[in-house]
Amino acid sequence: MKETASIAILPGDGIGPEVMNEAVLLLQEIEDYDRTFSCEMNEFPWNSAYYLEHGRMMPADGLAQLRSFDAILFGAMGDSSVPDEVTVWDFIMPIRKQFQQYINFRPVKKLEGIRSPLAESEDVDFVIIRENAEGEYSNSGGRLYDHTNEAMAIQNTIMTEKGIRRAADFAFQYAKEHGLPVTSATKSNAVIHSMKFWDEVVQKTAEAFPEIALEKIYVDALAAYFVQRPQSFGVVLASNLFGDILSDLGSALVGGLGISPSGNLNPSGDYPSMFEPVHGSAPDIAGQGIANPIAQIWSAALMLDHLGRKDLHDMVVTAIEKTLAEGYRTKDLGGEHSTKEMGEAIRANVRKQL
Ligand code: ATP
Ligand code: MG
Repeated sequence: MKETASIAILPGDGIGPEVMNEAVLLLQEIEDYDRTFSCEMNEFPWNSAYYLEHGRMMPADGLAQLRSFDAILFGAMGDSSVPDEVTVWDFIMPIRKQFQQYINFRPVKKLEGIRSPLAESEDVDFVIIRENAEGEYSNSGGRLYDHTNEAMAIQNTIMTEKGIRRAADFAFQYAKEHGLPVTSATKSNAVIHSMKFWDEVVQKTAEAFPEIALEKIYVDALAAYFVQRPQSFGVVLASNLFGDILSDLGSALVGGLGISPSGNLNPSGDYPSMFEPVHGSAPDIAGQGIANPIAQIWSAALMLDHLGRKDLHDMVVTAIEKTLAEGYRTKDLGGEHSTKEMGEAIRANVRKQL
């Protein structure tokens, strides 16, 4: 890690600022106690209120402003006064595209004390690596013969060798570093053009990693195995659509939105990566001080890992686990603790390790 990591803080809307506050306090705490860690945080007020005032989610040079940061920590964006497409297409997608964040990274790890539909004894700890830049989510397609009884829609999937290869390569590298097997989600029995190509490129990429076990599983069966044998997975590699669906299933398996973190990664390090909780702005509970800050804090931990401080990442995750073991629960986890109480308890458990 560089002497001082520069971090752009984008709290966003709804519960975003509430949970972000806890993550920022935690980073400051680590900085105060650990002399080897230093960060400079700059906060940006780009959110739905900004949109209503300026007619855009961020200034014209917003991407240029973010460009120079080592990482972006994002809260959540969304408000009933702004159409969802605006936050996605004027904010999230430009950041993902411009900064080539072609990997969406999601840990699926069952923390002790979290109520889950799985058996108590089940030890679940794997990651989903989702191709984040192309695939099924493309703008290509259209409608034909609208308003006739021959109406049809065409939605094109775009898969490139380069796009699949770089996602697969990241998955195998990660698997190698952590001693894990790779499972590739496919559907080449039915989606015979794009998914067959996916299989081929994944297979070719695998040849450079002969020591890593690779299994290809049809995504429908894989969804069932997530529930039946989640402990058997290490790295799950998936296309944009399949990864999106599997990620939410994974999140539900290990405790839900309030605790699920994610990273949109640019593995080359040429551009900043962005870390954010899986949940949205949760307008139904905003302003009450009851949101669970774990997803945001864990996202900050993923950021620390990405910045080269796996030790600090592990320390934060351990602190989260200790806090849960002590009985702290926000409302979503069936308890009564506030956002601030949960945040402070996690910081206390970080302090004990510093
Ligand atoms: P958006 O459009 O911003 O994605 P959404 O309403 O679609 O918002 P979420 O904001 O993720 O989706 O919220 C879904 C549900 O989960 C809501 O009932 C919300 O209260 C709950 N929820 C989400 N995040 C948290 C959290 N951090 N703590 C507690 N409950 C949460
Ligand atoms: Mg949502």
